[in-house]
Amino acid sequence: MSTQHVTLNRSGDKMPLMGFGCWKVENKDAEQLIYDAIKCGYRLFDNACDYGNEVEIGRGIARAIKDGLVKREELFVVTKLWNTFHSKDHVRPAFEKQRKELGLDYIDLYLIHFPVPLKYVAFDQAYPPGWYGVGQKKIQFERAPMHECWSEMEKLVDDGLARNIGISNFNVQAILDLLTYCKHKPATLQVEIHPYLPQKRLVEWVQAQEIHITAYSSFGPGSYVSLTDDGRSAEPLLQNDAISSIAQKKNKTPAQVLLRWAIERGIAVIPKSSHEERMKSNHDVFSWSLDDDDKKQIETLNKGLRFNNPDSYGFDLPLFS
Ligand code: NAD
Repeated sequence: MSTQHVTLNRSGDKMPLMGFGCWKVENKDAEQLIYDAIKCGYRLFDNACDYGNEVEIGRGIARAIKDGLVKREELFVVTKLWNTFHSKDHVRPAFEKQRKELGLDYIDLYLIHFPVPLKYVAFDQAYPPGWYGVGQKKIQFERAPMHECWSEMEKLVDDGLARNIGISNFNVQAILDLLTYCKHKPATLQVEIHPYLPQKRLVEWVQAQEIHITAYSSFGPGSYVSLTDDGRSAEPLLQNDAISSIAQKKNKTPAQVLLRWAIERGIAVIPKSSHEERMKSNHDVFSWSLDDDDKKQIETLNKGLRFNNPDSYGFDLPLFS
């Protein structure tokens, strides 16, 4: 089960185009699930402080290495700086806490989760801190300039603690600004991409800056059913007629069609699954391809429909407007 890679700017590291997403992986299942995913052939793991499971994910990685399933240098571990740690004094301690919880000497790729500086929350008050401060009902911003945050991210690279740094949920304006002062360009941008939100121009422009794209929520509304009205009301992409008929024609699953569609655009994917069969089949997207007609049909599904939008969670933050 071979995975294709992209080569990241500056470091020249090879990042797998197929990874395993760790959002909503329950703490009690995480160690075994990561171990099983490594057995299945996954080499990239997408974590975040906000997912609250880095200790258990780290245990799964450690066990797989100890049992000789994989070597550390064959893995590509991604994690993300949470919004409450953007101030220049908080980036390094937050990173160090995550690195220790994951039990790793270095992180392959450290991303800024959102371009949203929120009021600092100390580790002993709440961890992970979430969007609200302790006892608050609204988000509260912190005057933490992005250029200071990014400079601290760059120091993690210079000190050999993060091999690559990148961004998530940034739009073109935010990236343009970052490119005016950065010493190390972001290696990747992680954003929501699926046929209801293909983000064609964003993808083309960002790729032209030599920044690789990772798509999250490749299956569309599924992860947002319990979170937002749009998640509940949108037709599940995995049951969409066009996707299902392409899958039938190719003798593949709808999930494989959605993942292959992204990969053919040079976009990395990070699906999450707890079922071994799905884990295996999701990974199997490198030995076949979609026809031009299939891609044209998928293009017609574009609705500009975004599910991971702070505004739809009830925060007063139209981040993508
Ligand atoms: P996803 O699109 O990977 O969907 C996951 C859901 O699909 C799960 O409920 C799973 O059971 C189901 N599923 C998986 N494989 C299937 C298959 N073959 N057939 C049918 N159902 C299947 O969703 P996601 O969790 O939203 O995104 C993937 C990863 O992206 C996350 O785990 C996380 O690592 C990352 N992410 C990042 C951000 C960000 O802000 N940067 C936001 C959301 C997610």
